[in-house]
Amino acid sequence: MKRLSLAAALALATIPIAGAQAQATYPDRQISMIVPFAAGGPTDIIARIVGEHMGKTLGQSIIVENVAGAGGTTGITRAAQSRPDGYTIMMGHMGTHGAAPALYPNIKYDPAKDFTPIGLAAGTPILIVTKKAFPAKTLKEFVDYVKANGTKVNEAHAGVGSVSHTSCTLLHSIIGTKTARVTYRGTGPALNDLVGGQVDYGCDQIVNLVSQINAGNITALAIATPERSPALPNVPTTKEAGLPDYQVSAWNAVFAPKTLPADVTAKLVGALDKALDDEGTRKRLLELGSVIPDKAGRSPAALQKLVESEVARWTPVLKAAMAAEQAAGEKK
Ligand code: ASP
Repeated sequence: MKRLSLAAALALATIPIAGAQAQATYPDRQISMIVPFAAGGPTDIIARIVGEHMGKTLGQSIIVENVAGAGGTTGITRAAQSRPDGYTIMMGHMGTHGAAPALYPNIKYDPAKDFTPIGLAAGTPILIVTKKAFPAKTLKEFVDYVKANGTKVNEAHAGVGSVSHTSCTLLHSIIGTKTARVTYRGTGPALNDLVGGQVDYGCDQIVNLVSQINAGNITALAIATPERSPALPNVPTTKEAGLPDYQVSAWNAVFAPKTLPADVTAKLVGALDKALDDEGTRKRLLELGSVIPDKAGRSPAALQKLVESEVARWTPVLKAAMAAEQAAGEKK
C-alpha cells in the first residue's frame, strides 16, 4: 500500500512537468493539417499556402492530409477527435462549421463547442460558373434555362453541407428551381469535370476558379458579393446581373481540437497571424481572389463568433430550402 501510494505520488508529481516540457518545446515534429476535401480545391489551396508560412514560423513543416467525404464532415470529425496537442489541426470552412449541422442530424461534432478556434485564414466570395459550352451566357439566361430544363441540368458540388452545395441550394431556393446534383470529394475534382464539360455548372469559392475563368475554360456568370472582385474585374456582381438577392460569401479557417493548451494555441495563432502579414503569402491569396481578414477579424474570438453566427444563419435557411427541394422533387 505504502509503495503504491509513493509510486502514485511520484507519477502525479511528474505528469505536469512532462506536460509543461512538451508544450514548451512545441512543435518538435511535423504538424498535420487535415483538409476535409480532395486536393486541388479551395480549402486545400488555402491550407497549403497558409500552412507553408505557418510552418516556417513554427520551425516544423505543416503537412496537408486530405480526408474527404460527407461534405467535409468526415475529415472534421476525425480532426475534432484527435489529441489536442497541436500536432493535428484542420482547415474548416463555412460548410463544415456553419451549414453542416443543419443537414446532418447525427453529426458527431458541435462547431461552436468542440474546437479551439485558431483564426480565419481567408474570405472567399462565391461565383456561379458554367461549362464553356453551356447554352446560357448570362445569369438571366441561366435562370430561364434552368427553369425550362430542371433536372436535365447538372450541378457539381463537394457533398451535402459543403460550401458549393449550400451556395447552390440558396440559389435555387431564391429562383425556385431544382436541378440534378452531382457529388464530388471536393471542388478540385468538380472543377476538372466542369472544364471537361461533364457537368454543367456550380456555385463555388473563387480560389480555384480565377485561372480557369481567365483562360476561358469555364464561364463566370456572376459573383455573389456587393462589389466585383479585383481578381476578376470583368465578372459582374449578382446585383448587376439581375439577381440582387443572391448574396453569399464563404470563408476558410484554422481550428484545433477543443482543450488545446493555451501556450500551444498562442503559438498557432501567432503563426497564422504572421502568415497573413507576409507579403508573399498575401500576394498568393489575393491573386486567387481571397479576402484577407484584418487583425481583428483573424482573432480566435472573432472566429468563434463567426462560427456561432453562421450556424444560426444557415440552419433555418437550409432546412427550409431542403424541405422545398424535397417537395418540388415529390411533385414531379
Ligand atoms: N469548395 C469546397 C466546397 O464546396 C470544397 C473544397 O474546398 O474542395 O465546400
